[in-house]
Amino acid sequence: MNLDYLIIGQGISGSLLAYHLIKYQKKILVIDDPKSNVSSSVAAGIYNPITGRRLVRTWNAHHLFPFLKKEYGELENILSAKFMHPVNIYRPFTSIAEQNDWMAKANDPMYRPFVVETKIGSDETYPVNDPFGGVVIDQSGYIDLPKFLGSFCQYLTNESRLREEYFDDNDLEIHQHQVKYRDLVTKKIIFCDGTHIKSNQYFNWLPFRLVKGELIDLKSDVAIDNIIIRGIFVLPLGSNFYRVGATYDWENQLLKTTDEAKTDLGQKFEELTSVPYEVVGQQVGIRPTTKDRRPFIGLHPKFEPIGIFNGLGTKGISLAPYYANQFVEYLENGRELDSEVNIARYFSLYYLK
Ligand SMILES: Cc1cc2nc3c(=O)[nH]c(=O)nc-3n(C[C@H](O)[C@H](O)[C@H](O)COP(=O)(O)OP(=O)(O)OC[C@H]3O[C@@H](n4cnc5c(N)ncnc54)[C@H](O)[C@@H]3O)c2cc1C
Repeated sequence: MNLDYLIIGQGISGSLLAYHLIKYQKKILVIDDPKSNVSSSVAAGIYNPITGRRLVRTWNAHHLFPFLKKEYGELENILSAKFMHPVNIYRPFTSIAEQNDWMAKANDPMYRPFVVETKIGSDETYPVNDPFGGVVIDQSGYIDLPKFLGSFCQYLTNESRLREEYFDDNDLEIHQHQVKYRDLVTKKIIFCDGTHIKSNQYFNWLPFRLVKGELIDLKSDVAIDNIIIRGIFVLPLGSNFYRVGATYDWENQLLKTTDEAKTDLGQKFEELTSVPYEVVGQQVGIRPTTKDRRPFIGLHPKFEPIGIFNGLGTKGISLAPYYANQFVEYLENGRELDSEVNIARYFSLYYLK
């Protein structure tokens, strides 16, 4: 079979890249091994333009957030499935000092489009410990990833554009302008293989910093409508079920849930909300995070038919739509990639290895 693009992986990055290439009417095939560790199917799916302890605007938010809304909306129409849930995020302040710091930026035009309002005292409508008030964030919400990935998988299957099997890079034959893989001949192969990149012989020189994360699922009698974030996130899933996360573990990469994480997340939930709850589930995944916290996108320094779209780290939901589009514009129209995401920034590591 002759292809324009072979994509390895159908997580969030492979799916969004496939979608953009299909829009360009390219002949594509996706190979995905449903048995591998898939960060995308564990992720809470939250998109949030103001994050972190210091309440800073997400890098490139002014491009990413309008784009993601349009893109997931388009995909909902094409796939006839509802998976995007726009929900405000409430971020209670930790102290008066934090409230003051925030006030200094609340009217900054860089922040204003992402803010509904700032509360300077406790808000009785949230069952949350917020004595210093907090900020209600706009253009936020979550993507129901199992639903999106399942619908997209079905779409690719119906179009005969998906093979569910393990891709073995030892069987790849590289030529100057194409690659061969078993019965497939393709002009380009793009790796969207998430944390599996560590054993990918073509890109294992890139400085990934994989981070394990755990989540717990809770049931509580208290109804919370908005996503609450401070140290942890509390994501309401309906019928008084909540997903609470996440932990960050840079040392241990064992794909197993731990009692420590369950206790830690439970304690943080109690500090934040003081509502009774029962833990009904726990999940674990590994994030494909990078040393400089920017994605890894581009073509291999030596083998031009081989590319990568990976390193989406903790923000796959907000980064994937915008950068899948930018990568396809680069591949098809020769437009520039942002230098912060282009793997060319690390080519020296390849030549030094
Ligand atoms: C606990 C946790 C919570 C998170 N919460 C959020 C959140 O709220 N918001 C957010 O934006 N991000 C979140 N993330 C991060 C998010 O999950 C990642 O940014 C994103 O899922 C990365 O997607 P990906 O497609 O690059 O990789 P993956 O989702 O890992 O997909 C890679 C795919 O490639 C396939 N594959 C790999 N190797 C092969 C092979 N050799 N052959 C065939 N197939 C292969 C795998 O099967 C998989 O389907 C979270 C992550 C974790 C772990």
